[in-house]
Amino acid sequence: MCGIVGYIGTRQAAPIILDGLAKLEYRGYDSAGMAIYDGEEIHITKSVGRLKVLEELTHGGATMPGMIGIGHTRWATHGAPNDINAHPHYNSEHTIAVVHNGIIENYLQLKKKLTDRGYEFVSETDTEILAQMLDYYYTGNPIETIAKVMHRVEGSYALGIIFADHPDEVFAVRKDSPLIVGQSVDGCFIASDVPAVLKYTRQVYFVENEEIVRLRADHMHFYNVDVEEIAKAPVTIEWDANAAEKAGYEHFMLKEMYEQPKTIRETLSPRLRDRDVVIDELQMSVEDIRAVRKFHIVACGSAYHAGVTAKYVIEGLARIPVEVDLASEFRYRDPILEEGAMVIVVSQSGETADTLAALREAKKRGFPVLGIVNVVGSSIAREADRVMYTWAGPEIAVATTKAYSAQLIAFYLLAVKFAKVREQITEKEFQGMLEELQRLPNQIELLLNNKGKIQKFANRYLAAKDVFFIGRGIDYAISLEGSLKLKEISYVHSEAYAAGELKHGTISLIEEGTLVAAVSTQPDLYQKTISNMVEVKARGAFVLAVTNEDNREIERAADYVIYIPQTNPFFANSLAIIPLQLFGYYVAVGKGCDVDKPRNLAKSVTVE
Ligand code: GLU
Repeated sequence: MCGIVGYIGTRQAAPIILDGLAKLEYRGYDSAGMAIYDGEEIHITKSVGRLKVLEELTHGGATMPGMIGIGHTRWATHGAPNDINAHPHYNSEHTIAVVHNGIIENYLQLKKKLTDRGYEFVSETDTEILAQMLDYYYTGNPIETIAKVMHRVEGSYALGIIFADHPDEVFAVRKDSPLIVGQSVDGCFIASDVPAVLKYTRQVYFVENEEIVRLRADHMHFYNVDVEEIAKAPVTIEWDANAAEKAGYEHFMLKEMYEQPKTIRETLSPRLRDRDVVIDELQMSVEDIRAVRKFHIVACGSAYHAGVTAKYVIEGLARIPVEVDLASEFRYRDPILEEGAMVIVVSQSGETADTLAALREAKKRGFPVLGIVNVVGSSIAREADRVMYTWAGPEIAVATTKAYSAQLIAFYLLAVKFAKVREQITEKEFQGMLEELQRLPNQIELLLNNKGKIQKFANRYLAAKDVFFIGRGIDYAISLEGSLKLKEISYVHSEAYAAGELKHGTISLIEEGTLVAAVSTQPDLYQKTISNMVEVKARGAFVLAVTNEDNREIERAADYVIYIPQTNPFFANSLAIIPLQLFGYYVAVGKGCDVDKPRNLAKSVTVE
């Protein structure tokens, strides 16, 4: 998420940091700030809003003298985007300054410990705990102190750190958030990504997990978490600055598809504790969970498709009735909400106008609203009674991939939690599901690695006029999203149909060579879907099947099969959607479409 830039050298730091942060703007952010050390004091300037605000506040950096500094563009995860929560953060004495990318999962526990010892906190962020812990464990030796803190924090972090009593050094460290360092003739740099430093150097060091770096104006030293010095070799960057922004991927969409395993790990891991699902933000007791009589899921676009999947998963596992509505319909249809109903609104941006209106409608009628959103501090996050965040990080491509995948995970967590509390599944089944959820990221990696095969297949369909996606149950929900991915970015007309519905009209559209993608991940429906595949094949369709590894029988009805790894059928959407995303992506690439910014579409739909 967001960006870090640090500098120590013989030039004024602030303008260099502003310039570097501008190169990281593509990563998305809501506020920006810098800490500059002038040799006497560490000064911080920070502000909510665009980088331009910070530039104006500091006259392009001119008002902040000093040759040592760290800067940050924040994408809020803990605490609203505002001036106070913006980074950098200080310890109480203002002798340590920290910028952070990532999430400290156990910060509440750590915060309590330090509060009990008299520490005071000014922000709502998880990051401030790092500045205060560095203070608490400070030994005079920064590397040793950083290592001590690393042993105690859980989660992900890339950090830039300044200590006032080390006026000629800057420190960097990371775990599960990206960070690089580089050296030029007049200084050393820290950055979350290569484009921030390309103007100064092409020789960079990729900091590995749990490595600590001590940067001076003219050299850098690397240490492991045992405070032993280690040797590292630089990598020469050959890409141009543009390619570097996408970390070598051709498009943000592809990069974001590859971020899905990480996104899922981050959405799951803070909520899987002690062999249980703990969703603190739900603020619901066992009695509250038992009292829910019905869910109304309200959303637009892909978030609506995640909701359609959730209907099958929640009803199937927790046995609670679920109604799913398009937000633009819900708000005007005078929906019947009865005692015990809970409304769940889903939106990546948290600003979707129709979804926000549906939220207000439900609240006006006195029903509790849970928001599943990706952007902290967004309108839906502020107005919903409870918020469950999807930790997907900023999504740049207009067509969603990783945020959709994170929404699915949020729903799975709700479903298994409610199923367990309401005693619809046994403890053994529950534990089995937690294991299956944790396996999803690795299984998705396997599917992504198979992209060459899908690209080849997609290239055969660049001239397709119509494509049909069919499936039953959850496979129908997957088809809806697979179809949307294809049409929104490649402009190939496509439709998703419940497989049993084809005969009621649509089958007349099948011609010789029409591509029909059949999704079949639900073992109890294998045979039924095979029958529907046979029907379209008999009318000339070319049938692509996406199915589980154990469904070899499908080969008799399909022309081409993509197998997905075995998982619990309730979670199969997370795997089956990957080849369909890749298919849509490669058709769009093959046709030369503007993949990341398809025509007529906006990332956040803030109009009705
Ligand atoms: N979790 C931190 C915050 O909310 C850092 C967010 C980021 O990576 O920008 O302030």
